[in-house]
Parts: sequence; C-alpha cells; structure tokens
Amino acid sequence: MMTAAQVQTGSLEQTSIFLPSLAEIVRTEVLTKMEKLFEVKLQSGKELGHQPGQFVEVSLFGIGEAPISVSSSPTKKGSFELAVRAVGNVTKALHNLDRGASLGIRGPFGQGFPVEEMKGQDLLFVAGGIGLVPLRSLINYVLDHRSNFGRVLVLFGAKTPAEQLFLDELAKWRASKEMEYRETVDRTYGQWKLNLGVITTLFTKIIV
Ligand SMILES: Cc1cc2nc3c(=O)[nH]c(=O)nc-3n(C[C@H](O)[C@H](O)[C@H](O)COP(=O)(O)OP(=O)(O)OC[C@H]3O[C@@H](n4cnc5c(N)ncnc54)[C@H](O)[C@@H]3O)c2cc1C
Repeated sequence: MMTAAQVQTGSLEQTSIFLPSLAEIVRTEVLTKMEKLFEVKLQSGKELGHQPGQFVEVSLFGIGEAPISVSSSPTKKGSFELAVRAVGNVTKALHNLDRGASLGIRGPFGQGFPVEEMKGQDLLFVAGGIGLVPLRSLINYVLDHRSNFGRVLVLFGAKTPAEQLFLDELAKWRASKEMEYRETVDRTYGQWKLNLGVITTLFTKIIV
C-alpha cells in the first residue's frame, strides 16, 4: 500500500496505479439511446494488457472518474473498447465526447474471469442487458481461441429489441457455426420473431 508521501514524491513507476494514463478516443458508435461505444487508444502506444472481465477507471478531467468494464477481447490489439450507459456526471459527459477527445485511464483492475480453468470445458454464457458488456470480452476471447473450449452457448436477453447492444456482432453470432446463440426480449412493440420473455425462459429451450 502506498503512503500519501509516496504518492506525492514517489517515482511515476511507484505511483502508477493512482495516476491516469492519457488516452484518446479513436472511434465512437451509438449502440442504443442510452449506451455508446468508445474505442480507446493509450497515448503511450502500449497495450492495455487486460484480461476478459477486468475494468478500467475512466477519468474526465475536471468532472470525475467511473469504473467501466473493458468490452473488447485482449486478442484485439492496438486499442480497446468501452460501452457506457449514460446515467450520471461522468458517463453523461463521456457521451458528449467523440473521436479525438482525451481521457484518463487507470487500470486494468479486478480479477477477470478464470479463463485458464475454463479451458476444455463447455461454456454457457447468460447475459442480461448491459451485462453483456464485460461478457463480450470473454465471448470474443473464447471465439478467438475456439479450439481450447468445448461447446459454447450464449444466451442474451434485453428488455426490448431497441435495447439490444452490439447489433452487428449479434448478427454474426446468430449466423456463427462456432457457437450456439439464443436471444430473447421481455417485451416488444414491433416485429419480433424470436423468443419473448425474460432470459430464464430460454433455459428450457436449450438442448443438452
Ligand atoms: C466494476 C464495474 C464495472 C462497470 N462497468 C460498466 C460498464 O462497462 N458500462 C457502464 O455503463 N457502466 C459500468 N459500471 C457502472 C458505472 O461505473 C456507473 O454507471 C458510473 O460510475 C456512474 O458514474 P457517473 O459519474 O456517470 O454517475 P453519478 O453522477 O455518480 O450518478 C450515479 C447514479 O446516481 C444518480 N444521481 C446522480 N446525481 C444524483 C442526484 N443529485 N440525486 C439523485 N440521484 C443522483 C444518477 O442518476 C445515477 O443513477 C461499472 C461499475 C463497476 C463497479
């Protein structure tokens, strides 16, 4: 544990977990009315070096800091992705930023998922709403190391079709032969030909 004095006088190496690294937004994409994707690159040119399931602290200068999961797989090199729901001070200010804007990144933090223990196993992912954000990192990691894992089944539930995240990726997962993908929405106001009901209604439809 670092003391206050060390924080003030220590070398940058020693204090690095407290100091945000400068980073740049290189791409944004509106995912839904509430969620926006940010592709971020560290100004140092280094990789973030995260494990699936880890998060970073995102800081906006003069506004504050918020923990956000890394949504891209570590197999994606050169940049990483954050998917952020606008709820309060930091996240709403982040939504106003676009390509070229600067932010601070601390981390990665957290244990991450036990990827090594999953090797050779069948995997069932159950994601509801924004819960897909951290799982997406692991799902794409697994797909990029497909031969290391057994059967891969992903269940995704959203409140309505308009709240589904990562539409392009979901389309690929639907068509994929590498995984089994099932989805549901709690309710719909328009055309929806797939499962209707909360995510647990998919459990009885899995073929084991
Ligand atoms: C490990 C971890 C990973 C996470 N990953 C993600 C992620 O990938 N994506 C994501 O979108 N979120 C993620 N979150 C949640 C995210 O960190 C929070 O949404 C974020 O910290 C909110 O910060 P903020 O400054 O925008 O909101 P704040 O301003 O702190 O507001 C937070 C909440 O309080 C309410 N509020 C604010 N001001 C007031 C007030 N004056 N009176 C009453 N209520 C008020 C807001 O409406 C909001 O609901 C994660 C959280 C953790 C702990």
